[in-house]
Amino acid sequence: MYKLGIDLGGTGIKAALLDKNGSISQRAAIATHCELGYQAVFDRIAQCAGQCLEQEHIKPSDLKAIGLAAAGMLSEDGQEIVFSSNLRFLHVKAVDEMKKRFPCPITLTNDADAAALGEHFYGAGKGAKSSVTITLGTGIGSGIVMNNKIMSGSFRSGAEIGHQIIEANGIQCRCGQQGCLEVYASGTALIVDAARRARENPSSFLNSICSGNLAKLDAGMVFQAHYNHDPDATRAIEQFTKYLGIGIINVINLLQPEAVIIGGGLSAEKENLTKPLNDYVRKHLLFGGQNMRTKIRYALLGNDAGALGAAMLCE
Ligand SMILES: [Zn+2]
Repeated sequence: MYKLGIDLGGTGIKAALLDKNGSISQRAAIATHCELGYQAVFDRIAQCAGQCLEQEHIKPSDLKAIGLAAAGMLSEDGQEIVFSSNLRFLHVKAVDEMKKRFPCPITLTNDADAAALGEHFYGAGKGAKSSVTITLGTGIGSGIVMNNKIMSGSFRSGAEIGHQIIEANGIQCRCGQQGCLEVYASGTALIVDAARRARENPSSFLNSICSGNLAKLDAGMVFQAHYNHDPDATRAIEQFTKYLGIGIINVINLLQPEAVIIGGGLSAEKENLTKPLNDYVRKHLLFGGQNMRTKIRYALLGNDAGALGAAMLCE
């Protein structure tokens, strides 16, 4: 029997088919097109899943279970997507919609939890019993795995590492609070800070690397400018590292996981991202980091993490 994991995001749907050994046997991806409404989105999920089954020459009845990971707030009973700005969903009964299209049990999960579980079992957390995955993108997504189980709080909406407050009276966050980690250490936060520095210093290499159009600046370019010894890019990265480091120190002090895994597009910078972070955390952790055993690693799975984790979560 096979398991199918589906990662439903605002722009794309990804599916991964796992064989009985838990190995990926097929993958498929299509655009979400959430502007067509939720019924059409679930039809597209069925289409994407169908591609995986066709490639493997199997039928829907060969599926033992499907795990669906969705970007959004889920109901406590795990049946409904209560709200998702990315998907433009409001009170969508996702499990019922899936059951209309598939004959097997369905498990709905949060996309950040699924990505954390994927990295934990298949990626940078392989072999560890506990890990925390922090995904840096437009915002900060996070998932906590302790004793090989996802920990999302008593009411299923905890583990929001990006909304820990690290600056009292700090920058406004979209969650309504001020000074959250997300507004200092997401991919977007790094870009915003680097662009501000570039505007203040027209001779900065940050302006050249995006051909003078700072709206096109991305986090990879900020790292490129830093590798080219641009002081503005370096300062932006130092500040980003400091805040992300503070966030990680709080995570270690609370949970002491075996690994903290940094995901998102920035994980492409590999050790250039994790080495300075590790140095900062070690220096500022309690008792001078003498007993720091937590490893800070970059994520290994890229786009597969969510679909893999979703498949892991289904029974
Ligand atoms: Zn916030």
